[in-house]
Amino acid sequence: MIGKFVAADTISPQLTTRMIKKGISVINTYKVVCAAFNHHGDLLGIVSNTFRNDNVKPARFAGYHAEMRALHRWGTAIKSLVLMRTGRSGDILPIDCCPKCEAVLNKLEIKVFKIRV
Ligand SMILES: [Zn+2]
Repeated sequence: MIGKFVAADTISPQLTTRMIKKGISVINTYKVVCAAFNHHGDLLGIVSNTFRNDNVKPARFAGYHAEMRALHRWGTAIKSLVLMRTGRSGDILPIDCCPKCEAVLNKLEIKVFKIRV
């Protein structure tokens, strides 16, 4: 298992608010948000997972996990990620990396902090 589970209050209230806001905007049942930081600890940005519909040929970047979208956007500038899952009303739900993302992040030695409930 990759990364550490951390309490929501270990990240700034501003970041928590921004991540939850982003989470609510995801139309999937599973709403995952990921904040990427560089080696200075500066926030690169926040991305969410994207909608996937197996009946429709996915558009570019459709159905991607938040972690992979962050990687696609910022590449090796990323040193750490904060991962959060939210509910529809902005509540924080349990989250863990899937094995695919985990393998990639491990290889790139990106630290992962998963917000625990
Ligand atoms: Zn994944």
